[in-house]
Amino acid sequence: MPKPSSNLEKLPPYLFAELDKKIDAAKAKGVDIISLGIGDPDLPTPAPVVTALKEAADDPATHNYSPYNGTKEFLQSAADWMKARFDVAIDPAAGEAMALIGSKEGLAHMILAYTEPGDIVLCPSPAYPVYNNYTLLCGGEPYNVPLRSENDFLPDLASIPDDVAARAKLLFLNYPNNPTGAIAPESFIKDCVAWCKTHDVVLCHDNAYSEMTFNGYNAPSFLNVPGAKDVCVEFFSMSKMYNMTGWRIGFAVGNAAAIKAMGLVKNNTDSSAFKAIQRAGSVALSRSTELTAGLNNIYGRRRDVFTEGLNRMGWDFQPSAATFYLWVPVPTGMSSVEFADLLLEKCGIVVPPGNGYGPEGEGFFRIALTVKEDRLREALKRMEKAGVTFSALAQDQPQTACC
Ligand SMILES: *Cc1c(COP(=O)(O)O)cnc(C)c1O
Repeated sequence: MPKPSSNLEKLPPYLFAELDKKIDAAKAKGVDIISLGIGDPDLPTPAPVVTALKEAADDPATHNYSPYNGTKEFLQSAADWMKARFDVAIDPAAGEAMALIGSKEGLAHMILAYTEPGDIVLCPSPAYPVYNNYTLLCGGEPYNVPLRSENDFLPDLASIPDDVAARAKLLFLNYPNNPTGAIAPESFIKDCVAWCKTHDVVLCHDNAYSEMTFNGYNAPSFLNVPGAKDVCVEFFSMSKMYNMTGWRIGFAVGNAAAIKAMGLVKNNTDSSAFKAIQRAGSVALSRSTELTAGLNNIYGRRRDVFTEGLNRMGWDFQPSAATFYLWVPVPTGMSSVEFADLLLEKCGIVVPPGNGYGPEGEGFFRIALTVKEDRLREALKRMEKAGVTFSALAQDQPQTACC
């Protein structure tokens, strides 16, 4: 067999591999594992969306190839939703919208459309791994843009050296953010748009969590900023919005030239999403407010339960206003991996260590609120029983005192 592309060897080691082995070993011993690791909703897709798919699948008109860019109906639903939700005007006829087989596919294909060897893609750290890894697969150079807690997990674009900016083709951002939960203020978005215009960089905004917000916070579209459409493409996903991760449906909107380039890659790779799924996606978008309100109530209660529990154990943790993730500092004196190991060994709880999302994720662990409230309470009970506290190690207690 020939050797696969050397670009595959550039991919970072899968940091959760060790953890996965330990999980399997614990399961084999019969440990009742509580996984707070997976950003995959535990609740079903809302009934009206499932019904729409069933009806659409019964219609033979959905059985052949979809138009490459997506069906007219789906693209119009996306445009209508952008208008109603953000007051952003999108014209599908002008090439400003494209259906995606999940937003991950679009993010990856956008990188392929722009990246040649020697090109830089600006990738936040910590982050959803696709931006960094797909750049490597294309032979490009990811440049790490750190997201630090003291900067509210927003990047400092002014600190990017001019020679890096000159070679950069794309800047990836994601607010509300996975894994940190951080949100982007309007002034920051304006600065990003201006920076991308100055440096001739496509601003790729991954808005997968725009609808998962709490306490009255209303997440913006980056396309709200005047002139953003000159440089910005925004990626939306139905996956987390409506519990549709397995369905594979999302869309990109914004700059027509960038969408056209991405589309050229797509047209030579896939043949768009099943038309029946696009129909169901239209139904979900048209009933979005009603569908997301119920889900956010559930995630909101789970957030409160887990935050209160952490704070009883000595954390001083304030959840952000968005996403179903809690990005929590590990107890003082421990690394992310040490703390994740400890939660598994002493409590049967699985959490991803922060450094799995990039070097700047060290010092944190991520909680995904994708288990029922009673399991969250059980997880907290186990942690309290094991003596987990935020400051145990800071008070010069022996290593074992933490748990
Ligand atoms: C889950 C997730 C996605 C992927 O969404 P799909 O539409 O299911 O491909 C993209 N970006 C971020 C930040 C995510 O967390």
